[in-house]
Amino acid sequence: MTVLIVGAGPTGAFLALELARHGVPSVVLDRATAAPARPEPALLDDPSVAALRRIGVDLSGGLAASLRAAAAGHPLVGLRPGWTFTGLLAPGEGVRAVALDRAAGVRHVLEARYLAGCDGARSTVRQCLGIPLDGLPDPVPHCSIYYRTAGQDQTVQVVRLRVAAGDAIPTDPVALLRAALGDRLAAAEILDVVQWDDALPVATTYRRGPAFLAGEAAHWFSPPSEDASLSIADAVALAAVLAGHTALDSYEDARRPAACRARDRLKSRDHVMTEHPGSGQPW
Ligand SMILES: Cc1cc2nc3c(=O)[nH]c(=O)nc-3n(C[C@H](O)[C@H](O)[C@H](O)COP(=O)(O)OP(=O)(O)OC[C@H]3O[C@@H](n4cnc5c(N)ncnc54)[C@H](O)[C@@H]3O)c2cc1C
Repeated sequence: MTVLIVGAGPTGAFLALELARHGVPSVVLDRATAAPARPEPALLDDPSVAALRRIGVDLSGGLAASLRAAAAGHPLVGLRPGWTFTGLLAPGEGVRAVALDRAAGVRHVLEARYLAGCDGARSTVRQCLGIPLDGLPDPVPHCSIYYRTAGQDQTVQVVRLRVAAGDAIPTDPVALLRAALGDRLAAAEILDVVQWDDALPVATTYRRGPAFLAGEAAHWFSPPSEDASLSIADAVALAAVLAGHTALDSYEDARRPAACRARDRLKSRDHVMTEHPGSGQPW
C-alpha cells in the first residue's frame, strides 16, 4: 500500500481523491460508518472551490458526505468504514499501523509507505506521533451543541456555551441547552456535542518521518471559520508531496505557516465568541 489515510472526513476523503488524480492508490480508515449529520462549512475560499471542482465530485449532497461517497466509489481508494486506528508499531520501512475492525472484531496490521493523519481535532495519529499542539495561553473551555427541534424545518442549529470544568457536558447536553434557550427549546434531537477551547492550537510539526498531519488534526480553530479551506489546501499540498512531485519537507514549510497566519487573523478579529447560558443564540 502506498498511502494509509486515517479519517474519511473532508480532509481524508479529499486527500484520497486528490492522490487518485495523481494516480496514487490509498486506503482510508474511518471509525465512523457514515459522515456525521453536522452543518456544512459555510465558507470555502476560491482555491478550495477550484480544487474541489478539479476532482469533479458533485457536492450537492454536502461536502463531507459527497467526498466520502466519491472516495468509497473510486477504484484507487479503499475505504474501510468502521475501522479505528489504534496505534503504530515500531517502524521499519514506512509505517505499520494497527486498526480495529469493530463489526468483525478483528485487529489488522497495515503497512504503508506513508501515513496521513486526517483524524480530526482529537487526532490519535498526532498523539501516537507525540506531536504537541501549540496554542494560545489560558484557554477557556466551551462546548457547541448541535441540535434540531421537533416541528421546525430540519435546519441544524448550534449553541456555543462557555462551560465550567466540571459541567456534565456529554451526559446531559439537553439540560445545558434548556438553560441556554429556555422556552424557545421544544423537544430537541441532539446531533453532536463538541468540546473545545479558544487556544486555537496548531501542531508544532506536521511531519514525523513518513507520517504527516493534515486538516483539523494539524490545526483546530473553534468556532470553525477558515478550517475547511485550510484543510483542503493541506490535502492539495500533501497529495503533491506523496505523489513525488515536491519535496517531503515542502509540505510543512508551506502549510504550517498558513495555519499560523489564519490563527493570527482569527485572533485579531476577536473571532472567538462566547455565549453564556441564558443568552445563547442559534448560530
Ligand atoms: C460542526 C462543524 C461545523 C463546521 N463549520 C465550518 C465552517 O463554517 N467553516 C469552515 O471553514 N469549517 C467548518 N468546520 C470545520 C470543517 O468542517 C473541517 O475543517 C473539516 O471537517 C475538515 O475536518 P477533518 O476532515 O480534518 O476532520 P473531521 O471532519 O473531524 O474528520 C475526521 C475523521 O476522522 C475519523 N477518525 C477520528 N479518529 C479516528 C480513528 N482513531 N480511527 C479512524 N478514524 C478516525 C472521524 O470519524 C472523522 O470522520 C466545521 C466543523 C464542524 C465539526
